[in-house]
Amino acid sequence: MSEILDALNAAAETDSDATSQSAPQENSPQENAAQENSSQEDAPQENEERGVLFTDLGIDGRVLAALRDVGYEKPSPIQAATIPLLLEGRDVVGLAQTGTGKTAAFAVPALSRLAELHDQNGPSRATQALVLAPTRELALQVAEAFTSYAKHLEDFTVLPVYGGSAYGPQLAGLRRGAQVVVGTPGRVIDHLEKGSLDLSELQYLVLDEADEMLRMGFADDVERIFQETPEGRQVALFSATMPSQIRRMSKQYLNDPEEITVKSKTTTGTNIRQRFVQVMGSHKVDALTRILEVEDFDGVIAFVRTKMATEDLADKLKARGFQAAAINGDIAQAQRERTVEALREGKIDILVATDVAARGLDVERISHVVNYDIPHDTESYVHRIGRTGRAGRKGDAILFMTPREKFLLRAIEKATHQSVEQMSLPTAETVNSLRMSKFADQITDTLETEDVSLFRELIASYEAEHDVPAAEIAAALAVMVQGDAPFFVQELP
Ligand code: ADP
Ligand code: MG
Repeated sequence: MSEILDALNAAAETDSDATSQSAPQENSPQENAAQENSSQEDAPQENEERGVLFTDLGIDGRVLAALRDVGYEKPSPIQAATIPLLLEGRDVVGLAQTGTGKTAAFAVPALSRLAELHDQNGPSRATQALVLAPTRELALQVAEAFTSYAKHLEDFTVLPVYGGSAYGPQLAGLRRGAQVVVGTPGRVIDHLEKGSLDLSELQYLVLDEADEMLRMGFADDVERIFQETPEGRQVALFSATMPSQIRRMSKQYLNDPEEITVKSKTTTGTNIRQRFVQVMGSHKVDALTRILEVEDFDGVIAFVRTKMATEDLADKLKARGFQAAAINGDIAQAQRERTVEALREGKIDILVATDVAARGLDVERISHVVNYDIPHDTESYVHRIGRTGRAGRKGDAILFMTPREKFLLRAIEKATHQSVEQMSLPTAETVNSLRMSKFADQITDTLETEDVSLFRELIASYEAEHDVPAAEIAAALAVMVQGDAPFFVQELP
């Protein structure tokens, strides 16, 4: 936790002088140390360099207390820029990459205003804030964040509504009344049509990951929702990019919005090491398993282009002894969520995903992102590798490419302001010597930690009966354990 804070604080400190800020969590520990030193040398500027505090922004005391509880010390750049504007009642368009703290940037002012309305007008059961998010996972993440920031507010309900789950509990929740509803556009429309969601008292509408919602085909739904909201409502639109469709929408539906862009100095964290490896299509699975054998990984996401490829690669990895699973848009939402949970808990280590299915995933233990299939563009590359290096940790991004795809490499280096090092595939010799030492370690481990007495006796009697040396018997057992898979790998051509 303190790592997160350090990273975010460092980001807030360096960026306090300008609105073109870099994303939080993106400074390496060395850089953080460097910044601390330099701010000590510049004594006259020390106050400025300390940056903005949450207490400077005019946030309601109960919400401030909740921020302290969750351990946030200082606002991230996008938070420092947008919270005061939203508290003033302005419409805001916020452009910032993932991982920059956008959720609190809209949730904190929303809750702060709703808390004050509650003080003025007494309790209300009406839906006062509506947040639209592109996927169920993101809706749930946002709802969870709202709930934690609303911890000290009385009589306050946050309700996630999304497709692919039963209407019953959502209907009951809406009937009881939820001041904040977080939903996917399709399901929100369903509830509007059913009459179960009433937006007539809406104060605050948020579009989270607006570009992604449009990419997923929700443009019509989002426009309809805009039209169903009352005139005076405040709108916050957050997006990683600003396609023309969003510009048009914000012209049409937002009231003189203030546009805040938090530019990342480096769009990816300097805490993410980027490497590429040249590998032909037919050798990719072998290449990946070799890399996984020599890399020190915790959780991994391997990105592929098609839904079918997610299943295919996950099956192949499982067949080679890895704990892997696939997620893609065709897999039922509830199942997808279970899979992500399994990754979080370490029940699986490798998630094979399409871009859409893994969008916005925030699992701290992801140590490696593998671009197994090359991304469509640099933007999707940046989104992909942003799944690692979470919460100030170090991350590794590995890109598989063929010589023909070299052009993308230059584009990526330009977009990330960081070089992508060439990595060579672990040689067969490296992999094989690792396998030998692992084999030996497993024996040592078993002897030290397991009760082997039963088998010791069986082997001893076999040895006596058949007059075969113990080493021969052990070798036979190892062959039995190994099964059909070859113990040594061959050099790739
Ligand atoms: P985004 O929506 O921009 O991708 P999130 O809102 O999901 O980013 O935030 C990314 C992570 O940073 C989350 O784990 C969140 O809890 C954490 N975070 C956000 N703001 C702060 C802050 N001011 N201090 C510490 N951690 C923060
Ligand atoms: Mg977000």
